[in-house]
Amino acid sequence: MAPQIKYTKIFIDNQWVDAKSGKTFDTYNPHDESVIAKVAEGDKADIDLAVAAAKRAFKRNSEWRRLEASQRGKLLFKFADLIERDFEYLAELESYNNGMVRSMATRFISLAADQVRYIASLADKIEGSTMPLGGQNFSYTLKQPVGVCGLILPWNVPLLMFLSKVTTALAAGCTAVVKPAEQTPLTALALAALLVEAGIPAGVVNVVPGFGETAGVALTHHKDVAKISFTGSLEVGKLIQQAAGANNLKRVTLELGGKSPLVIMDDADLAVAVQYAAFGVFTHQGQICIAASRLYVQSGIYDAFVQAAAQVAKSLKIGNPADETTQHGPQVDKIMLEKILGYIEKGKQEGARLVTGGKRVGNKGYYIEPTVFADVKDDMTIAKEEIFGPVQSILKFETLDEVIERANETNYGLAAGIITTNLNNAMKFSEQVEAGTVWVNTYLTMRPQTPFGGFKESGIGREYGPQCVDQYLEVKTVTMALS
Ligand code: NAP
Ligand code: MG
Repeated sequence: MAPQIKYTKIFIDNQWVDAKSGKTFDTYNPHDESVIAKVAEGDKADIDLAVAAAKRAFKRNSEWRRLEASQRGKLLFKFADLIERDFEYLAELESYNNGMVRSMATRFISLAADQVRYIASLADKIEGSTMPLGGQNFSYTLKQPVGVCGLILPWNVPLLMFLSKVTTALAAGCTAVVKPAEQTPLTALALAALLVEAGIPAGVVNVVPGFGETAGVALTHHKDVAKISFTGSLEVGKLIQQAAGANNLKRVTLELGGKSPLVIMDDADLAVAVQYAAFGVFTHQGQICIAASRLYVQSGIYDAFVQAAAQVAKSLKIGNPADETTQHGPQVDKIMLEKILGYIEKGKQEGARLVTGGKRVGNKGYYIEPTVFADVKDDMTIAKEEIFGPVQSILKFETLDEVIERANETNYGLAAGIITTNLNNAMKFSEQVEAGTVWVNTYLTMRPQTPFGGFKESGIGREYGPQCVDQYLEVKTVTMALS
């Protein structure tokens, strides 16, 4: 049965309102392309109202600014409890609007409440330092919230993205305007309702569903927005960086995807390596920024590996994501479906060997077969561009030095992995590969304790980890004369 849709309006000042223009847009179920709901379509006028509300909530003596740090943390702990209470519903809604398979939505949302608690626990540990200058002066630093934050979300993991950005901004004491992705506005709105229940003061968090070209642009150009945190494509990330620079020099955190190399050494256990490689690239139909989309396999096990990889890809159970046993659901929308099929065609044209998959499944819903290409070369399009789909590209290599060199030949640097039983290989690779996260004999393992973000064009700044709140703080130096 379809989950009940409770919230479809814009959320400003703890109120649900229609768009000023009166416009709405359709949101879909990617499983069967049916319209789930009509959602209020915010644009510049609504962003202006939301930013004004967030600015009021951030005023010097506002309820939010006067709240003790430990109370901010407590409010977020209550929020985490409510997420846990509504766990089933949120998982169902995420799956319904995004196509995420239920087992993954369930796993993610069970991690989500702990993620909120981890970040919430940092709210009362924001500390400056003291610097005795010698002589007549003494200095100390204060860390203070940067102000109104614009949080722009992608569609791939909507609920977790909302939580990581919103919770961190709130733990720091900021206020926020959230722009969810056009494809997946529903869980963001459901979470806004839980924030009200947790006791958030009006205006502290506002959510404006709408389009990037209108609502998103208005937010990134707004003079009262002090910071933007964005996750999405490199192309839009660059636009955001420009908008921030051209206006009021907003602080910017960007998480922009990748083309992450996973290296399988000859000494690896083949059966284990094949499973990690498939998990790394087929999880969520390949719609994750850290997907292992360049799979380097050493020559000694290459042929056996390719064969086994095809078997694993073929074995994945494709179907309605609402079904608990489904392993492979639909892509998020028609645009992504066509884009990915285009990459698969390009792979064939440029001479990669299609081992399995490569086709759309059925003609309703945005399903693509888990696809494996072998004999991929570094200069092929499928080895260079982020596909964001279920396409495993296998490349052959001879030596560790060679593969490190090739792994680093990319503008991206989000994640990397190595499967090996040799400690020297693991140490050398981890030290020399250019990536914000490196996995050894595992892949996709993430917890809120570990900083996450990219080298090179994969982004700027880090989310999660014990320092995550710093991304939403300014450092103020106070110097006093002692006499
Ligand atoms: P996107 O265009 O980068 O969108 C991400 C968010 O930014 C959405 O909320 C989007 O609004 C908004 N946006 C778009 N243009 C904007 C602008 N000029 N100013 C401010 N905000 C703007 O990503 P997408 O269209 O969803 O997907 C395109 C590609 O991005 C995918 O093929 C994939 O490669 C990559 N991607 C990467 C990640 C990641 O985790 N790194 C996540 C999602 C997608 P709309 O919803 O209206 O577009
Ligand atoms: Mg878009």
